[in-house]
Amino acid sequence: MKILEKIEDVKREIRRIKRKDKKIGFVPTMGYLHEGHISLIRKAREECDYVVVSIFVNPTQFGPGEDYKRYPRDLNRDIKILKKEKVNLLFVPKVEDMYPKDFKTWVIVEDLSEKLEGKFRPSHFRGVCTVVLKLFNIVEPDCAYFGWKDAQQLVIVKKMVEDLNIPVEIIGCKTVREKDGLAASSRNTYLSEKDREKALCLYKALHKIKEMVELEGIRESDILLKEGKKIIENTEGVKLQYLEAVNLKNLNPVKKIKKGVMVAGAIKIGKVRLIDNIIF
Ligand code: AMP
Repeated sequence: MKILEKIEDVKREIRRIKRKDKKIGFVPTMGYLHEGHISLIRKAREECDYVVVSIFVNPTQFGPGEDYKRYPRDLNRDIKILKKEKVNLLFVPKVEDMYPKDFKTWVIVEDLSEKLEGKFRPSHFRGVCTVVLKLFNIVEPDCAYFGWKDAQQLVIVKKMVEDLNIPVEIIGCKTVREKDGLAASSRNTYLSEKDREKALCLYKALHKIKEMVELEGIRESDILLKEGKKIIENTEGVKLQYLEAVNLKNLNPVKKIKKGVMVAGAIKIGKVRLIDNIIF
């Protein structure tokens, strides 16, 4: 596995690979890899000839007071995992190379970025879209793999690609969960054993809603969300930020659950913020 830090070095390597007409698969990450990331990498490995992974804790997608500084990082551990997964190229750019002092250009996907997560993290998706487009321009992948765990991000990146005619296919990969249902996340490592137990309430709420829809045939969002919110609000030490049922295309709230609807939520346990969703 090649490990490159410099943008120009990656571009040179990509030119070399493109001359051989190889299909390039790309998995952008912030590192501290877990089974969720690995599932994306395996899909890329299956479908592409040459797999690029980036590890970059992108400062511009963190708001003031968020966890940029303390976000978990362990490059040596990640490198071992990536070698085992037969990744061809690891790109680990430096912040000062991605955002030189005179950086001025931002990508904003209007409307979609202001909903759900956007209400609590107003500049988050501006940072995500800007870095993802930069990475696409550097890596020039044929396919890029994103997790449904961050469904709003996936919807927004797809919209950006469509609106800006970016020549890449965006592939969504299903959420990987731990044995008890907790969505795998680098941020789970912040949780004490007790808080991890509490964190499960978001999955329990989503699971309850799914059961009420599939087993009891209840489809009214207000009834379902009320039941879900109850589970979260009855968990001591957990703060509910939102639990919403939205149309997966435009992220607008829906009155009834049907195909193409997502129920998404965010909770806070102390300083730790977690998100999850289910898609119908
Ligand atoms: P991150 O390192 O958190 O920026 O995530 C990098 C990519 O991995 C994103 O496309 C995420 O949606 C995806 N991802 C994170 N957690 C999971 C998970 N539990 N299951 C599937 N994909 C995930």
